[in-house]
Amino acid sequence: MSNAPRHIAILGSTGSIGRNTLDVLRNLPEHFRVSVLTTNSNIDLLAEQVKEFHPRAVVILDAEKAESFRKNHAPRGLLVLSGKEGLTDVVRRSDVSLVVNALVGFAGLRPTVEAIRHKKDVAIANKETLVIAGEFITALVREHGVRLIPIDSEHSAILQCLLGEQDNPPARLILTASGGPFLQTPLERFGKVSVDEALNHPKWKMGNKITIDSATLMNKGLEVIEAHWLFGLPAERIEVVIHPQSIIHSMVEFMDGSLKAQLGLPDMKIPIQYALTYPARMPLNGGRIDFPQLQSMTFFEPDRKKFRCLQLAYDALAVGGTAPAALNAANEVAVEGFLAKQIGFDQIPLFIEKALEVHRVVQSPTLEQTITADHETRAFTRTLFPA
Ligand code: NDP
Ligand code: MG
Repeated sequence: MSNAPRHIAILGSTGSIGRNTLDVLRNLPEHFRVSVLTTNSNIDLLAEQVKEFHPRAVVILDAEKAESFRKNHAPRGLLVLSGKEGLTDVVRRSDVSLVVNALVGFAGLRPTVEAIRHKKDVAIANKETLVIAGEFITALVREHGVRLIPIDSEHSAILQCLLGEQDNPPARLILTASGGPFLQTPLERFGKVSVDEALNHPKWKMGNKITIDSATLMNKGLEVIEAHWLFGLPAERIEVVIHPQSIIHSMVEFMDGSLKAQLGLPDMKIPIQYALTYPARMPLNGGRIDFPQLQSMTFFEPDRKKFRCLQLAYDALAVGGTAPAALNAANEVAVEGFLAKQIGFDQIPLFIEKALEVHRVVQSPTLEQTITADHETRAFTRTLFPA
């Protein structure tokens, strides 16, 4: 890495990826400076982060919380912004050269677009951005000549496997999936599973939305779409395999049948740090794999009937255009409904399927057409909720 420190904006610094990113930065003080931190509403944690990392600006989505933060927590000279415009304003700043997008859901889209348009590199955890507008985003990245580096562990694995293989196009990408908490639960029980059971992920400690997506396997479906846009392979050559130990984070097969895999303990700090230092590596404290203790790694095919969301994501990718944006919007609304105990776990795929049925697909959409598809599908999906 060069000697000059890079100036970073962390969007969603109070979330699971955001906090892990700050953990990584704590150990690399000579390489990075934190310029911007943001939260939806968690101003107490933001205040602690400000004290430790001394950013120049913060964004608090919630306007009232922003006002309270200004009064009670803001050190002199700190710029405190609020609202969605705050998020698009801060990524343009001249003291930001790398944006970590750790926002959840659709909220991540516009800040990503704005960052790329202003020639900032983006380390992206917010996979929804690529699901909603992958075609638009990847074209924008090429136009502006910036880096879009995945934080998602599977995509980080693939990126690492592809290093040095510029002249060897991958034949097949194999995304691994832990399988989530309901791998052994019969489909008949899906109507009865509680929010707490669904939030109890066996391998990863993550935010609520992605944890529910992992329980339905929609997360893997979103990752197939994310991989399609990041690595340019068609859906038929992107496969999913269940690997409950979560040690192999994904694999690439080449034309000679040779495979490369990236392995590591399931710790998001590894792909986060790699996205920040890419293509260099830096020391990182943490556990190391003990193979004799691990003993075995197992693999099996996902059950696409039981985990219907995975199939729906493949279907939306095959349809193309605005279909993945509609899939994502319906999923976000259904997951919110499940977390609020308004609908059952088994209704999540049903609502998404209905939303996709009524969605009128626009091929090669503009950004605004994509956003309209998102908003219309949200409104439709809400009409499916019980009164
Ligand atoms: P969290 O819910 O833990 O954190 C989300 C962050 O964004 C928080 O800082 C939250 O603020 C803020 N936020 C939430 N909604 C909004 C909004 N509408 N506008 C502005 N800010 C908002 O999520 P995760 O960290 O788990 O996930 C972030 C992204 O990374 C997701 O796209 C997820 O799929 C992806 N990802 C996550 C992994 C993980 O291990 N967690 C692994 C791979 C990918 P507040 O604290 O106030 O709620
Ligand atoms: Mg992942």
